[in-house]
Amino acid sequence: MSDIELVSTEPATGAFLWRGACGNVDAEVTEARASWPAWAAQPLSYRAEALRRFANVVRARGEDFADLIARETGKPLWEARGEVEAVMAKVDTSISAFAERTGQRRLDAQMGSRLALRHKPHGVLAVLAPYNLPADIPNGHIVPALLAGNAVVFKPSEKTPATGAFLVDCYRAAGIPEGCVRLLIGGPETGRALSEHPLIDGLLFTGSARTGLALNRRFAEHPEKILALEMGGNNPILVWDTPDLYTAAVLVVQSAFLGAGQRCTAARRLIVDQRLADPLLEQINALIDRMIIDAPHADPAPFMGPMIDNDAADRLTERFLNLSGKGGRPIRYLERPVEGRPFVTPALVDMTEAGERPDAEFFGPLLQVIRAESFEAAVAEANNTRYGLCAALVSQDPRRYDAFWANIRAGVINWNRPTTGTSPKAPFGGLGWSGNHRPGAFYAADYCAYPVASSEAEQARASIGVGLRDG
Ligand code: NAD
Repeated sequence: MSDIELVSTEPATGAFLWRGACGNVDAEVTEARASWPAWAAQPLSYRAEALRRFANVVRARGEDFADLIARETGKPLWEARGEVEAVMAKVDTSISAFAERTGQRRLDAQMGSRLALRHKPHGVLAVLAPYNLPADIPNGHIVPALLAGNAVVFKPSEKTPATGAFLVDCYRAAGIPEGCVRLLIGGPETGRALSEHPLIDGLLFTGSARTGLALNRRFAEHPEKILALEMGGNNPILVWDTPDLYTAAVLVVQSAFLGAGQRCTAARRLIVDQRLADPLLEQINALIDRMIIDAPHADPAPFMGPMIDNDAADRLTERFLNLSGKGGRPIRYLERPVEGRPFVTPALVDMTEAGERPDAEFFGPLLQVIRAESFEAAVAEANNTRYGLCAALVSQDPRRYDAFWANIRAGVINWNRPTTGTSPKAPFGGLGWSGNHRPGAFYAADYCAYPVASSEAEQARASIGVGLRDG
């Protein structure tokens, strides 16, 4: 990688995929700045129509899009197809969300005047995106931002620039003005320069807590700008009171290892009734034994592909070894089955006896196991984190779920479903280091526009009732 161009290669094979020049932050922001007033002045129906055309463009190019996402991230083709579906579905969801969350309302009327609530776009919004869902995540910010009447400068992850470029090309092909969605190719330094640019009105960020915290500090000096942070998690899944350990094991495997564990929603900690732990781990191990880990287009289709690159796989290997150094007992070793490529097998470490359990997001297929003596101790352990994105309980007892729901701290709380199961029809965001109370998904509308309350009358009529001398 150089600072004048980015090269993207396929994680599964190392094959060359894409090359592109790094962009100029100032030029992109200036262009967006010049274009947004005309876009904002269009009626909402015009912008909604343009975005519906965008969904149609994505539908027509869907197979190529999924193929590219799969190649660039290494995720299985079936998973990339699901991502493309989510990109298309975002348009209708955003139109509903805009109407429900940030549309117009007449609040009351008194004596010839009315109180109206309307929303205005911020102006130019920067979007910084991660690599793991390189189309769905930025699109989840961009579609509601455009619908509300903002212009966008979008910097994809330096690990998935080709997917970012494809996405922007789809907006353009739908007739959304070029000036309104600017593509900015570059790495973290480019992201930093974009976040500091004086002419942006806000920043919509999805990525790691480390970057999010740095952005939060940077924006402390700028209360006039909107900052929406969606960050990682150290998500727990609890298994308690369930006779069906096979299903529990499936839910744990889906939670921890889908997308090779490279999901913000992935479970990092399995907290289990100590009496169920051994038979449950046996079932989980049996499922991992059968798991196909292969290139995205392989036949039979894999459950998961490689990690994004060798750096990420090396870091995860180090973390696995560190856990063992901290008193963790490996139940299943992390292996690197393909020489020179970032394929990693799911690993399990029993941390019950470990003196120190690190509160960090291990972004890959590495699950820590903690055996608990009581349900209360299990919930306390689940809450023993600075993060608060997702949590799930597997249990047949509704009273357990009531207690779990009441006491767990997370923005997504699931029952007998994986931690990874989220819906675009609901808000998505977390507490603690997982976000800054600006949830996305259905509530993305909220951070794309600001409310304006107006007291209005067609004719000026006023009298000062008290406090005047007779004149
Ligand atoms: P990252 O924080 O390394 O990078 C995210 C984006 O920020 C990239 O575009 C990157 O170039 C840019 N960036 C990096 N450093 C920067 C800096 N100092 N200033 C400005 N920009 C900077 O994240 P990643 O490794 O690409 O993605 C994985 C992370 O994203 C995980 O932590 C995961 O949990 C999180 N994530 C969160 C959600 C969510 O909705 N909460 C969804 C997906 C991923």
